[in-house]
Amino acid sequence: MPNITRIVAIDGPAGAGKSTTARRVARALGFAFLDTGAMYRAATWCALHNGADLDAPDALAASTEAMELVMNETNGEQRVAVGGVDVTDAIRTPEITRLIYKLDQNPAVRRRLVALQREIGARGPTVAEGRDIGTVVFPEAACKIFLDASLEERTRRRARELESKGVAVDLEALRAEIHDRDEKNRTRRDSPLKQAEDAVLVDTTDMTPDEVVDAIVRLARERL
Ligand code: C5P
Repeated sequence: MPNITRIVAIDGPAGAGKSTTARRVARALGFAFLDTGAMYRAATWCALHNGADLDAPDALAASTEAMELVMNETNGEQRVAVGGVDVTDAIRTPEITRLIYKLDQNPAVRRRLVALQREIGARGPTVAEGRDIGTVVFPEAACKIFLDASLEERTRRRARELESKGVAVDLEALRAEIHDRDEKNRTRRDSPLKQAEDAVLVDTTDMTPDEVVDAIVRLARERL
């Protein structure tokens, strides 16, 4: 078990700003940053790359078991490699995002990735973000945050992010996609997205990124 007093757990739905916030909080506290969504993305990329049948739970489990995943963080930037191939950008495509649900409900996949997350958390003080960090991965974490925002606001933010990368956005389709992913995450049997009882809810709908980071850093300093 990692030194739980030095873990900040941040969970929440897609587009709530978890990654950007967690990265900045980690930098402010001098902690490592762990984006666990990147691990589910990498496992999806790996299964596709291996030609695994995405509808065959055993094939997904085997592909994830065999996956050589390396998460490297330098200067707050997390790079992800699978079998020596840098997949940092390749795991962010809409195709991967759309297919993750095929793996994220697979208990063997989750077991392997959660074990890796705990290993990484055990290396030192960490800000980890995802969907089940406060409930499953680090249930003993001393500081837990549930980051949320309205669907409208999350859609707007994701659209801005995509547009800044030159991707054309259909707002209606994006809203539907985020809503669909939320529903799948909240209702799945294994490790559904939900606020841990001892997590602090931070609704960021009307907050600036600076305000969100400040609020969490303050809370983390109080608790850790
Ligand atoms: O955070 P991000 O959008 O990159 O996560 C991608 C997907 O990975 C989520 O929609 C969810 O299906 C899955 N995930 C998960 N558990 C986590 C982190 C992500 O199931 N801890």
